[in-house]
Amino acid sequence: MKMQVETRVRAINCLHFINGQFVESQNQKTFDNINPATEEVLGTVAEGGKEEVNYAVAAARRALNGRWKTMSIVERSKILRRIGDLILERQEELAHLESMDTGKPFSLANSVDIPRAAFNFHFFADYMISVNTDSNMQDDIALHYTYRRPVGVVGIIKPWNLPLLLLTWKLAPCLAMGNTAVIKPAEWTPMTATVLMEICKEAGVPDGVVNLVHGFGPNSAGAAISEHPDVDAISFIGEPRTGTAIMKSAADSLKKLSFELGGKNPNIIFADADLDEVIETTIKSSFVNQGEVCLCGSRIYVERPIYEEFLTRFAERVRKLKVGHPLEADTNVGALVSKEHYDRVNSYIEIARQDGAAILTGGKRPDGYEKGYYLEPTILTGLDRNSRCVREEIFGPVVTVMPFDMEEEVIMQANDTHYGLSATIWTNDLRRAHRVAHSLEAGIIWVNTWFLRDLRTPFGGMKHSGIGRTGGMHSIDFYSELSNVTIKL
Ligand code: NAD
Repeated sequence: MKMQVETRVRAINCLHFINGQFVESQNQKTFDNINPATEEVLGTVAEGGKEEVNYAVAAARRALNGRWKTMSIVERSKILRRIGDLILERQEELAHLESMDTGKPFSLANSVDIPRAAFNFHFFADYMISVNTDSNMQDDIALHYTYRRPVGVVGIIKPWNLPLLLLTWKLAPCLAMGNTAVIKPAEWTPMTATVLMEICKEAGVPDGVVNLVHGFGPNSAGAAISEHPDVDAISFIGEPRTGTAIMKSAADSLKKLSFELGGKNPNIIFADADLDEVIETTIKSSFVNQGEVCLCGSRIYVERPIYEEFLTRFAERVRKLKVGHPLEADTNVGALVSKEHYDRVNSYIEIARQDGAAILTGGKRPDGYEKGYYLEPTILTGLDRNSRCVREEIFGPVVTVMPFDMEEEVIMQANDTHYGLSATIWTNDLRRAHRVAHSLEAGIIWVNTWFLRDLRTPFGGMKHSGIGRTGGMHSIDFYSELSNVTIKL
């Protein structure tokens, strides 16, 4: 058993952060935070509900009209920059906490999640300064100009897969535009959000501007935020079904909504692609973060002439991936986030078996790991396109691979889903790249690459994968209200 991996960083007990103070729940209720790599208890988490959300929303409402409102944009930008700097100063600690909470390799958290969390703040600290508004002269009759103001109190409800990266992706533009926030991190991954509150305070964010309430979704903190009449907008990342529930409870007070939801993303490989590059990138797009990334290309379609060669070489590389304790330096694939999620992912492997799939790699717990939610990277072939494994988001280290003959056929199959988040196309034929990209129903389309991001570009999904876009000006638009002022001359 190689479960005992030493770390200098200790797990933390997580309290709410309301009006600039760390506080327990009124009834002092807590729940355990479990380490998915060992199944041991990492610490406790305060369990919030309506009462804590009421306090947090009231604090956020007051803070909207306090020092935060009169602060110059330059001063606010400096605070955002300082938050980014402090995240980098505490990078290793945050990466350890993220890794313990999620089961993801420390190396991944340290090289991707935490640096990107800092960059989210640095990016919007710069971007906010350059945002301009329009003015229109209407002959000699009138001058029209637009004015941006904050939306108000924003509820930010987060998933567990990229906890700090995704929280900062929403919080940075939210603060940039002068809003205040009530945050609800995912119940399985509360630690880095809690540390971020310390960082915000140290960076000079006034009390009440950022608040955090831990807890669950239905009948708990999540639902309390989405139905609260004094919350003006909800920024939600998570499952489509949760999006529906949030939309229903937000409807009564007509909240502004931004949804980034699930995906079942096609990875389409044409025979003329550079196969070495395809395989290296497809390893990542299939199994990075245990496949727990909304953008993972979990449906792989390969043009028939290279299907067998691709499968052989891909499987060979996948078998070399090291599944192991997240804190071990050479681990490529860590543990899945929780027992509940592990069971859910395994249930799809069972469905694949019943549907007659060939399990080319994985499909089981790695040898030597009796504890922890480990699953070997799994390649499924031979499935019908109607199998649930091909149609539903598994959100784990499981991909399906299918051959195709015609461009039209693969486009039709790629679009044959309720999801529309991302897609990848591999080809060296420029015309085909454009043609297929324009035919795919997805918000984010990569050609000969994956996960290459520029934070100015629109990010988000269509169909059941989301509502609205974020990134650059799209984030600014969501986190601000535009008023047009007309002056008669
Ligand atoms: P989830 O929907 O189960 O939970 C997300 C958050 O919503 C959690 O904080 C949860 O406590 C809260 N919640 C649950 N029910 C609620 C309710 N009724 N009211 C208010 N809040 C509620 O999602 P998850 O399992 O944490 O995350 C995985 C999902 O997130 C996947 O579908 C994945 O694709 C998606 N995701 C999408 C993106 C994107 O950018 N599109 C990014 C990451 C993850």
